[in-house]
Amino acid sequence: MANDHAEIGMRMEKIKHKILVLSGKGGVGKSTVAANLAVSLAGQGAKVGLLDVDIHGPSIPQLLGISATPDQVITQSEPPLLSPVRASPNLCVMSTAFLLGHRDAAVIWRGPMKHNVIKQFLKDVAWGDLDYLIVDSPPGTGDEPLAAVQLLGNATGAVIVTTPQELAISDVRKCVTFCRQLDLPILGVVENMSGFVCPSCGECIAIFKSGGGQSMAESLKIPFLTRIPIDPRLVEAGDSGISYLTRFPETETARAFETAVARIARTM
Ligand code: ADP
Repeated sequence: MANDHAEIGMRMEKIKHKILVLSGKGGVGKSTVAANLAVSLAGQGAKVGLLDVDIHGPSIPQLLGISATPDQVITQSEPPLLSPVRASPNLCVMSTAFLLGHRDAAVIWRGPMKHNVIKQFLKDVAWGDLDYLIVDSPPGTGDEPLAAVQLLGNATGAVIVTTPQELAISDVRKCVTFCRQLDLPILGVVENMSGFVCPSCGECIAIFKSGGGQSMAESLKIPFLTRIPIDPRLVEAGDSGISYLTRFPETETARAFETAVARIARTM
């Protein structure tokens, strides 16, 4: 165990900033935000790793249009290392999806097994020298985010993704408590699905209300990073495996992502 921590420490030492992307609920756009943050940072010239620890619902490979089989990522070295998959020249990815071998395979693992696989992702993946490691955690405050925070030891901080309605916001408060209890700095909150700009009349319609994430951030005294509107092109980009920022770089949504990245980078 002590050896494991030393080995994780040695690998993580080569990574300047480790950022966890968390959410209170599923389906709020956490993986979309994690993928686009990674793409944006990589596009600015940073060397970025993106680790998908959403063990039961790994969606990063689909969002970035990459795939791999266990044979392709497990190297023949002794002990065997995992080789991350390149999504672009500056962005490499590791995900449980690469280890399952079949896209419809389901993971039925209990807590200790999840802890072990996350340990392997930090210890045995040949990440190399990176500016950022972005960790896409499953929703909530369960085994996987806890394991990731504990194993990373000194993560730079967390980005919390929410949608604006009260139902989602109340779960985000739990995320904030989770971070505070684990001494994990909160880099800020992203309010996703914040309003929808009607393509025909241009009016902004607050489908899930708007501003809830921002006022929650203010009341809990944590930074607010950005509001991302509902944009059907995000679904289109995700489904076709081309990151939104690559496909639609000149939109209001793209600017919202860039605002978050600029605010995060300023805190580093
Ligand atoms: P989570 O990781 O929180 O479960 P995902 O990132 O997988 O959520 O997003 C869930 C779905 O919502 C995906 O189909 C994604 O394309 C879509 N989505 C995310 N953010 C937006 C947005 N701002 N506008 C439109 N669709 C979005």
